[in-house]
Parts: sequence; C-alpha cells; structure tokens
Amino acid sequence: SLILGIESSCDDTSAAVICGNKILSNIAASQAIHKEYGGVVPELASRAHQQNIIPVVEKAFTKANIQQKQISAVGFTRGPGLLGSLLVGTSFAKSLAMSLNVPLIEVNHLQAHILAHFIDDANSMPPEFPFLCLTVSGGHTMIVLVKDYFDMEIIGKTTDDAAGEAFDKIGKIFGLDYPAGPIVDRLAKNGDENSFKFNKPRLENYDYSFSGIKTSVLYFIQKELKKNPDFIKENLDDLCASVQKSIIEILMEKLEKAAKDYGINHVAIAGGVSANSGLREAMKKNEEKLGWNIYIPKFEYTTDNAAMIAMVAQLKLERGEFTDLSAAATARYDL
Ligand code: ATP
Ligand code: FE
Repeated sequence: SLILGIESSCDDTSAAVICGNKILSNIAASQAIHKEYGGVVPELASRAHQQNIIPVVEKAFTKANIQQKQISAVGFTRGPGLLGSLLVGTSFAKSLAMSLNVPLIEVNHLQAHILAHFIDDANSMPPEFPFLCLTVSGGHTMIVLVKDYFDMEIIGKTTDDAAGEAFDKIGKIFGLDYPAGPIVDRLAKNGDENSFKFNKPRLENYDYSFSGIKTSVLYFIQKELKKNPDFIKENLDDLCASVQKSIIEILMEKLEKAAKDYGINHVAIAGGVSANSGLREAMKKNEEKLGWNIYIPKFEYTTDNAAMIAMVAQLKLERGEFTDLSAAATARYDL
C-alpha cells in the first residue's frame, strides 16, 4: 500500500511516499538558518518546519506521481527529538489523516534509522535477524541488538556526547560550519590520519564516551595556537583526518567486541554518521578480516529523512498497529 511518511524531529523537514518497501519520493528541506548560530536553535527550527511542511509534502506527492486520496495511512515521527519540531509534523500528520480518513501511524525516529535497512534497494540485501546495528547520529550513539523488526535491545551506548556531536563540536573548534561532520569527512580525504594522536576512552562493556577526545583536541589546539596562530589553517586536513580516525577506532573497537561476544556476524550501521566514508571503509575491511556480512545504508537514508519513517509505518500497517489521534509528540522516546 501507499503511505506518506513525515519527519520533523530536528532541523530537516521531510516527506516521503512509499509503495510496499519501494520509495517513490523522498523530499527534504534542510534549514540553513542554524549555520549562523553554530548549532540548531529549537525555536527557529519549529518555525522553519511550519513554513516548509506543506510545500515539502506537496512535492512528495507530485514526485511520487500520486493523488493524496490514494494513500492508505500517514506515518510520522513521534519522537525522540526537539519537541517544538516534533509538534509541527505530528499536528500536520494528524490533520491530514483526519481529513483523508486514513489511519495514523506513529514512528520512533531511532527505530526508523535502523529499519531504513529494509527499504528496497536494488543494490543491497536487507539484513538478516539477529543483527547488530551501530546507530550513530547527532543525538545518539549505541550498539543495538536487533532481534526482529520491533524487538531491539541496546547493549551499549554513549555515556556523554554522541559521535555526530563529537564531529560537530570538534569541527567547530577548527572553525568549521555546523554541521561539521560532513565537512570533516571531506577534508579528511586530503589529510594524513596519522599526523596527530588523541586520547581514547577506557570504558567497560560496550559503552562509549566522546567528551574526552573533544577536550583533548581543544587543549591541544589551544596549546598549538599559542606557538603558531596559523596552526589550524596549516594543518586542517591532517587534523580532520586524525580526528576522524580516532572516532572511527573508538566506534569500531566496541562494535567488534560486541560482534565477537554475541557471536553475530551480521553487522549494520545507521544514522547520520553512517554517511562517513571512513566508517564505511572500516566496515568494508571487516567483511574480509572478520567475515562480517555488512549492511551500509544508501547515502540518502543516513541523515534524517522521511523515507525511513514511511518504511516503519509500512511495517506497522502490515501488523495492524495504528495510532490514536490523541497521540502526543514526545521529546524522549526509548527504542
Ligand atoms: P538523532 O537521530 O540522534 O535524533 P539527528 O537526527 O540530529 O540525531 P542525524 O540526522 O541522524 O542526527 O545525523 C546528523 C549527524 O550526522 C550530525 O552530527 C552530522 O555532523 C553527522 N554526519 C552527517 N554526515 C556525516 C559524515 N559524512 N561524517 C561524519 N558525520 C556526519
Ligand atoms: Fe536522526
């Protein structure tokens, strides 16, 4: 069946139409306004969603070449995220479902990042259960044991910053725009990843920490700038490559440990940081080295998008899981 998915949890307003598990359209309007502030300003984000949502939804229908009345359900992100942002998508989804007289289906944004792997993609196979999913985004970093579509267990998570947050905050120290993650990735390609070494956290189990590396980069940069005010400019590519290498090593060490301990060799990555080329390469290396079956999402399904929301809504529709029109957006929402 045809479903419209709506995503508005952070700073991207997105709408997508799915047919079965094939994406017919996936439209997003990202908000450039936050660049000036070096991060997402919640109040501005909800206002921009308000402006973007109708044109984005209309575009999604046009691109999919379908009429509104053809859809069987409306899926929307109920949480987690910024409340003011979530409210816009939630209210819009409810009104549309009501006016079209179709069911409403709530989606957990984090489940959606993971279940984006079930979108039909001619180039790759969906993961086999059980699999491990390193979910790395702007707000979360965790290793999830995915036993079934809606049976997930977090076996490790960050105790402070998320990996995407680390990329963004360290990039900010280097003077890069928000979000810095993709810029660090691009600059790292021209740098030597062995130029600089940063401290790695020592944590038990499968937990992560990224505030240490952020602080160690900050102190290192402050020290070097005293000696040479052009230090960042002269070493930017090498700095980006070295930071990226450290973050990826931290991520992969625990993921490898989890895969070994749990005896699972189906391993996926998801979320915004799964767009990172270094992380993708590290995963590919383990295909040979550790015999993993790896699952890497298509680029457009890594950062926030409505295609993944529509995918989860489709899975829920098949299971007859609908949401009451009284459902409220929620800033916190566990897996
Ligand atoms: P959450 O999903 O936890 O609620 P979010 O929705 O804000 O957070 P995503 O949109 O999934 O996060 O991911 C955005 C994050 O991904 C940002 O921190 C961004 O810097 C990072 N990111 C995107 N592309 C890359 C890349 N190529 N390399 C590193 N980081 C990246
Ligand atoms: Fe996200």
